[in-house]
Amino acid sequence: MNIPTSALSMPDAKEKCGLFGIFGDPAAVDKCFLGMHALQHRGQESAGMAVTDGEMIQGYTGMGLVGEVFDKDRLQKLTQCGQTAIGHVRYSTSGASHAGNAQPLLVEYSRGQVAVAHNGNLVNASLLRREYEEHGHIFQGTSDTEVIIHLLAKPTHVDKPDPLKHVLNHLQGSYCLLFLFPDRIEAVRDPYGIRPLCIGQLENGAYVVASETCALDIVDATLVREVEPGEIVTINADGISSRFFDGPNSVKPAHCIFEHVYFSDPSSMIFGENVHQVRAELGRQLAREAPADADVVIPVPNCARCAAGGFSEESGIPYDRGFTVSHYAGRSFIEPSQPMRDLAVKMKLNVIREVVKDKRLAVIEDSIVRGTTTKGKMGALRRAGAKEIHLRIASPPIRFPCYYGIDFPSHDELIANDKSVDEIRDYLEVDSLAYISLEGMLSCVKKENDNYCTACWSGNYRIPVDHQVSKFSLERYQMKMFD
Ligand code: SF4
Repeated sequence: MNIPTSALSMPDAKEKCGLFGIFGDPAAVDKCFLGMHALQHRGQESAGMAVTDGEMIQGYTGMGLVGEVFDKDRLQKLTQCGQTAIGHVRYSTSGASHAGNAQPLLVEYSRGQVAVAHNGNLVNASLLRREYEEHGHIFQGTSDTEVIIHLLAKPTHVDKPDPLKHVLNHLQGSYCLLFLFPDRIEAVRDPYGIRPLCIGQLENGAYVVASETCALDIVDATLVREVEPGEIVTINADGISSRFFDGPNSVKPAHCIFEHVYFSDPSSMIFGENVHQVRAELGRQLAREAPADADVVIPVPNCARCAAGGFSEESGIPYDRGFTVSHYAGRSFIEPSQPMRDLAVKMKLNVIREVVKDKRLAVIEDSIVRGTTTKGKMGALRRAGAKEIHLRIASPPIRFPCYYGIDFPSHDELIANDKSVDEIRDYLEVDSLAYISLEGMLSCVKKENDNYCTACWSGNYRIPVDHQVSKFSLERYQMKMFD
């Protein structure tokens, strides 16, 4: 039973970006490629790498998957460029999806070359850009990251005792950053620690830095520690050293709990905990809060698998696969625009009729954003003969947009913004619908509740945001450039 392509083509929450860096390894380029590949789930629009031999930085970026952008020849050429590299996979949470916004951004300014890769979203990017443009600065792309370059190059900033520290104090929002200078990598995490960033070490002593530990695993690096909120970690020929640009523990962390719910790889350690284990606990908590009278528990692929396992374990209802996913068709739901998504609907998500026919199903989903994809999937289950569908969601109703690097739609597009749970149930045409509570979700992670951002559920934005600013606030510039 194929799911209609129209249902698959509308994305739910989309991902952000992934960062990988490696200093002083003869196979730096190949390892950077592998690290980026392991982070591919964090962004599929573009990929890029910047490499240095200690004197010159060279880079290459392109649209598409890591394996499409970097073929064997390209990797060989980059390998000749040096033993230190940073890489980036992108999903645009600010700025459009085009090659001009692919990262790392590589520029030359008065102090030499620098390449920058960013995961997150600056909430004051429009303001800063306007200020710079009023002083005659010219921008090439439309991503918020380019503002950082202008801050770095500003004449009154370059002469500061620690220019980078000075620059970072101007930024507001969520950011993990990798700066590649010819002699070093600087790895940065915003004071709230919204996005994850960790440091690892290879057997040969070389240091690596990555958005998730799954990228350390793929190159056989051992996790050393996370980059702390508000910290700059320098990796150079002397090893690693640390300084804080905002003072250690200057603000309470606001880790994005959605990294655990949906975004990160289940094998990764995020904010000190394994993602799979947190998701399994979400499933167990969901079963305690919202039990279902069902014959079988099935997950909506892929992210709800861990939660479905936990739900099954807690409820005693057997777990089975209700859907199959083609591994060869890509993840169409993270394509950046509707036309792109429509082109990418070749991905097949099929229902296993023999598992669902005449059964009462407890269907576990990680989240509902617009509701359109979920509705398509529930319809497919029904057409395959499901007797009852009891939908259980391993995160609370999403009522507010995210301004910190996750591409949730505007208020109006969020189904829970103006619909009650009963109304959503009716829209989805399921027999029952229940979400985990906010308190229940927070009980599944180890740190105190106030260490996590919950804004998309609670509306409590820890970093003040301008609700008029959208992902495409900078796109008026793009119209000039690409029309
Ligand atoms: S608003 Fe939601 S998705 Fe965005 S950082 Fe906060 S918890 Fe994460």
